[in-house]
Amino acid sequence: MAKGEGSYVSFEDGRRMLDFSCGIGVTNLGHCHPKVSKAAADQCMNIVHAQCSIAFHGPYLRLIEKLIPIMPDPSLDSFFLWTSGSEAIEASLKMARLITGRQNIITMQGGYHGRTFGAMAVTKSKTSYSEGFFPLMPGVFTTAFPYWHQLGLPSSTSEAELVRQALYQLDLVLKQQTAPRDTAAILIEPVLGEGGYVQAPAAFLRGLREVCDKHGILLIVDEVQSGFGRTGKYFNIEYSGVRPDIMTMAKGLANGFPLSAVVSRKELTDKLKPGSMGGTYAGNAVSCAAAVAVTNAFREEKVLENVDARSKELFAALNKLKQDPEVASSIADVRGQGLMVAVEFASPLYSEHDPVLAQSAPKNLATRVAKRCMEKGLLILTTSVYEVIRFIPPLNISAEDLEKGCDIFTASVKEVVR
Ligand code: PMP
Repeated sequence: MAKGEGSYVSFEDGRRMLDFSCGIGVTNLGHCHPKVSKAAADQCMNIVHAQCSIAFHGPYLRLIEKLIPIMPDPSLDSFFLWTSGSEAIEASLKMARLITGRQNIITMQGGYHGRTFGAMAVTKSKTSYSEGFFPLMPGVFTTAFPYWHQLGLPSSTSEAELVRQALYQLDLVLKQQTAPRDTAAILIEPVLGEGGYVQAPAAFLRGLREVCDKHGILLIVDEVQSGFGRTGKYFNIEYSGVRPDIMTMAKGLANGFPLSAVVSRKELTDKLKPGSMGGTYAGNAVSCAAAVAVTNAFREEKVLENVDARSKELFAALNKLKQDPEVASSIADVRGQGLMVAVEFASPLYSEHDPVLAQSAPKNLATRVAKRCMEKGLLILTTSVYEVIRFIPPLNISAEDLEKGCDIFTASVKEVVR
């Protein structure tokens, strides 16, 4: 890639593509948003690196002032800034151990949290992320996410039943594998990202909150991919009204400048000893200045309103395609919220638990459709071990560009399925 402008990227060979990937959900305000890039450039002329354990810099503190009012719960008032999503996850795991004095972490089947050793240990979405790297961090236990594939149930299973089954599995994990007194935290992405773009039902999240409250376990909510407006609210967890004890964010936070954050409540972070958290580049001044400009742009440019409007158009286009008799039997699901949306294709892999989905489905539909889209000028990504294509266009995309992308996708699906 040679250049990014708003919703488009150009390559060195001259090709120009509409970008529905946003560098995996990062450039949410489009490439090189003028105000964000200018804020970063200006900061470069002031101070680039001001190591945070030596002295705080202005953009760090200004960013926290901007973040406090948009947190999903007013109790979330204590921040650490880092560089990548994985680092934020590492910090959240370390914090959970120090705060509770317990060791074990329960994570979700299908979850993704990063590439470093701790983050990799709590990642359960694809073996290629951990293959060859064992032994990973010990003390990690896995429970079911309420996604029909994870529970081996047909796609027609009701949400209430999926939630019931997943909470039952969690109950078993706490009775058979890691006792509550040994369990520091339950970690969840409110929307499985690399696991297939599946929203956790509100009832499940509320169920986790109850279990955590009952046993003094911390609830860590990973909003690295689902946060910062991606699903139509600043943070996806807001839809459920559930209060996280620790929440991580990154990606869209600084629109492409490396920055992540962990937030918790002071009452909990007061239990951390000074010096237990840190990192040379944590909370870089240029990234923080960019993030301040991102939060301003969200307000000034009414970004969340745009997400809402474009989301309706995206769903209308995808549902229309799903009903098209030419392709209907190949599309298993259209799902998501805001502009974190997925199309799941039928797949021959899952015949045992869902014969309908498996019926003579062609192989590798998602990969083939994504490839065809790219040939037609739309950059779009697959996700998970299932046949899923994810839509993560810029949150400020125009109606015109969204329609253009949907038209390319529709044409590509028809060509591949035919
Ligand atoms: N958590 C989630 C939910 C993610 O989607 C990702 C990145 N895809 C990470 C953590 C890791 O972030 P990073 O790649 O910045 O380390």
